[in-house]
Amino acid sequence: MPHPHWNKPAILSFLIMTLLVCLSSAIFATETVAKQQQEVGGGAWYQHGFQPMGTQAYVEVFASTPALAEQAFSEVEAEFARVNALMSPWVERSELSLLNREAAQHPVTVSAELYQLLARANEVSKLSHGAFDITFASVGFEFKYREQIKPDAKTLETQKQWINYRFVELLPNLQIKFAKAGVKIDLGGIAKGYTVEKSIQILQKIGIKHALVSAGGDTRLLGDKRGQPWLVAIKHPRQEDKYAAQLPLVNTAISTSGDYERYFIADGKRYHHIIDPKTGQSPGELMSVSVIGPDTTQTDALSTTLFVLGLEQGMQLIEEIPDYEAVFITKERKLFFSSGLQK
Ligand code: AMP
Ligand code: MG
Repeated sequence: MPHPHWNKPAILSFLIMTLLVCLSSAIFATETVAKQQQEVGGGAWYQHGFQPMGTQAYVEVFASTPALAEQAFSEVEAEFARVNALMSPWVERSELSLLNREAAQHPVTVSAELYQLLARANEVSKLSHGAFDITFASVGFEFKYREQIKPDAKTLETQKQWINYRFVELLPNLQIKFAKAGVKIDLGGIAKGYTVEKSIQILQKIGIKHALVSAGGDTRLLGDKRGQPWLVAIKHPRQEDKYAAQLPLVNTAISTSGDYERYFIADGKRYHHIIDPKTGQSPGELMSVSVIGPDTTQTDALSTTLFVLGLEQGMQLIEEIPDYEAVFITKERKLFFSSGLQK
């Protein structure tokens, strides 16, 4: 049955956006050094690029002085380093690593911050009936995308049985327990968005009113671009130098999940970094999905969620969540917009 949103307005929007894209130039610069772009009365725009959490980050601020811009950049970098040290599964001393080592044996006390993010992940798991599930990691950790290594069928079957968000027990007094040995967690589907959101709060605290913070596929805009909306591009999922769409946005977040971020192709199949908790396999229906809404932690988690759910179920879910919209790109290279974007 045709979906109510797969109609002419969607195709028209696609054509208009494609046109916009053709006319536009790259907005995601990769400068590693902060540099002043243009003087505007009472301040100037400054940009800064860096590489946190194995990804590319970009910060742009409107600041009254170069010193304020420098402070903004160093505080945002420090925030990424702080969250990474707390939540990375690749940092041996992180709280998350401690959970993966010990929470199956006994309850582990964690910081309020990690506890709260685990609670948020749990909410999205419930909302999506398990499409979003941080215990995907028992399977996810078996993949080494750079080396093109994947688990064999037997390992996959074994590891799959530890995927279930209900196995992560949020106990009173900031204690976490894993219900079974073999359970592992990874916050890769939500932590970057969380850090982007925290970074924006830091910028607000030091008096910045117009900013963009972006890491990997997660972007948050603070205010507008001084009288104009920000133009945020959605990457073309198959051509690095092209965009699939460009959206004018103000004071909001946008997260994109794509099958092109970390992947390899073997036996004609694309193995990428998003795992369907039900099958332990990478979902193949979409090439990318972007979620737009007020909070980057939520847009990050939801974009991963919708990628797993696919077009029909993903569209259904996003339509039920107030203030959040989505753009889907299917493997047939068609764009679909949720109803709020069509308006
Ligand atoms: P994103 O680019 O935000 O979609 O995040 C992708 C990351 O989310 C992957 O690299 C994994 O760390 C993590 N991930 C993969 N599958 C899932 C899933 N089903 N639920 C939650 N996180 C996931
Ligand atoms: Mg995500």
